[in-house]
Amino acid sequence: MSALLLSGRSASAKILADLKPKIAKLNPKLVVVQVGDDPGSSSYIKQKIKSCTEVGMRSQHRHLQAATSLSDLLKLVADLNADPDVTGFIVQLPLPEHLQSHVPDIIRAIDPKKDVDGFGAYNLGKVFLSKDFEHLPPATPAGIIMLLEHYKIPVASKHAVIVGRSNIVGKPLAIMLLNRDATVTVCHSKTKDLAAMSRHADILIAAIGKPKFITKDMVKPGAVVIDVGTSRVDGKLTGDVDFVAIQEIASAITPVPGGIGPMTVASLIKNCVQAKERQIEK
Ligand code: NAP
Repeated sequence: MSALLLSGRSASAKILADLKPKIAKLNPKLVVVQVGDDPGSSSYIKQKIKSCTEVGMRSQHRHLQAATSLSDLLKLVADLNADPDVTGFIVQLPLPEHLQSHVPDIIRAIDPKKDVDGFGAYNLGKVFLSKDFEHLPPATPAGIIMLLEHYKIPVASKHAVIVGRSNIVGKPLAIMLLNRDATVTVCHSKTKDLAAMSRHADILIAAIGKPKFITKDMVKPGAVVIDVGTSRVDGKLTGDVDFVAIQEIASAITPVPGGIGPMTVASLIKNCVQAKERQIEK
């Protein structure tokens, strides 16, 4: 068996094409704040700005020096909150060492109405209520859900196993899958016999950050495998899943690159459009 390739590139192209008329009408603007020169961040930001340009959405890259102080960064966040022309903004993570421990304070300072990464407690909390309250959901889990929907992969009554419990991927994704009637197991570094868990998955999602951590023996034949991981190995972007071996037994699988990355960007742009709609309503 050779797995169906779940292409985030083609799914995101369709989602963005569908958003184009709304973008033309609403004219939203996304601001991406970068502090320092983390090479991974620079490449992700380039993708975000490029996608905005392609879909006709205004965007701006605010690039601050690595030595920027917490108070200067918080001042910029306050300015962006107050600027009526800015629909939404994100502070690209990771931040330089001296700011990293302040990430919760920085996220808390972002106006929930402009929190298009969906990382703040208000938008995360709404995700807990039900599917109907997923207004600005965290971009990567929302991108995964959109990819499953695009390929018409049923979620209800399936057993989804997520490896990774971060606040930006694993935990919110678990809730979003529960909202869609999946039965969800969340695994992490303290999970005993992870392979026994992952082998039960109808849908297996890896969000760990360890290249090729998920091996063929950890996957049930016929499972849908979603690889969120992005690590650099010899300069090459590598996922958490041993793609070559697992595509032989999975029913569907995402590639890295070209899988969840483009879906995250599409989801960010969709959030920006949704934020603008709400701002106009209010
Ligand atoms: P994170 O905050 O570092 O979380 C990693 C998770 O993996 C943690 O829950 C950790 O468990 C778990 N883990 C680590 N080692 C493990 C092990 N040996 N067995 C089982 N679980 C283990 O990472 P993240 O921010 O969620 O990101 C995960 C990966 O996705 C990274 O490669 C990141 O670059 C990528 N990512 C990609 C996108 C995209 O758009 N493509 C977006 C976001 C993230 P503990 O909680 O017990 O420590």
